[in-house]
Amino acid sequence: MRTVVTGAAGFIGSHLCEALLDRGHSVIAIDNLLTGDLSNIAHLRSRDLELIRHDVTRHIDIDGPVDFVLHWASPASPVDYLELPIQTLKVGSLGTHNALGLAMAKKARFVLASTSEVYGDPLEHPQKESYWGNVNPIGPRGVYDEAKRFAEAMTLAYHRYHGVDTRIVRIFNTYGPRMRLRDGRAVPAFMSQALEGEDVTVFGDGTQTRSFTYVTDLVDGILRLMDADTNDPVNIGNPHEVTIEQIARTIITLTGSRSRIVYRPLPVDDPKQRRPDITRARTLLGWEPKVGLEEGLMKTIDYFKRKLS
Ligand code: UDP
Repeated sequence: MRTVVTGAAGFIGSHLCEALLDRGHSVIAIDNLLTGDLSNIAHLRSRDLELIRHDVTRHIDIDGPVDFVLHWASPASPVDYLELPIQTLKVGSLGTHNALGLAMAKKARFVLASTSEVYGDPLEHPQKESYWGNVNPIGPRGVYDEAKRFAEAMTLAYHRYHGVDTRIVRIFNTYGPRMRLRDGRAVPAFMSQALEGEDVTVFGDGTQTRSFTYVTDLVDGILRLMDADTNDPVNIGNPHEVTIEQIARTIITLTGSRSRIVYRPLPVDDPKQRRPDITRARTLLGWEPKVGLEEGLMKTIDYFKRKLS
């Protein structure tokens, strides 16, 4: 199997490349390193992985046959996509168009990295794939949410109009090694703050909820979806829901930190609750998460400790 991964040097992209290599795939890793980092895939360079430094909002040219195109490229933390709003919109729209064009030309199966952000600030809880979402198109998060909603629409259009074999995974909050220390997301922010004895910044009153998935569980779900027989979107996420204050306190305890929690204003349109309904993943993929929150957090803390030392 020969597989193209866009966004290969990112947090999830790099774990995906590694799992594909372990399965015996040849990997063509594309990244423009806007938010990705070569150090995430440095240990894979001696394996069957070819790195192409390229911005996928421009035409993607690959020689030879391709069996899968996995479109993972995009800024993905709220801080990143607020700083890179146009790039975020472009990679979700033009980048998805180009990646689908590549899949069509090569008769490859296409997998889109979508997101729980398509549900916006959800009025239905937990979120099933049938829920259409509650998104503010002109708010600061709209650049990511609408780009991913467009990307899903484009993916289904290529499937229906051009017959491309497509998959859509809606990824819920994921954490683990290779997240950027200061990418602004809750888990890396709290870990780096706790490990450095800084104040831990909880936004709002900390009662908003998220459901955190450890990265190896996510990758397992993606690999199963690649082989499954469905073109409908599938939620992959851990249904264990916690408040942001709870996760901050857990991280402070697990790091043995003396940091205290401080409260900062809630970002605009920050979703109040989020939890996946994973009935579809269970039924179609036989998937469910295996790594518990404390176990996953400890592995991630080990990684951040090494990074900070
Ligand atoms: N958050 C926080 N402090 C931080 C970073 C994030 O309290 O330093 C909150 C954020 O407001 C949100 C939740 O943690 O309610 C998860 O944020 P994250 O950026 O990780 O991802 P999101 O789920 O919002 O895309």
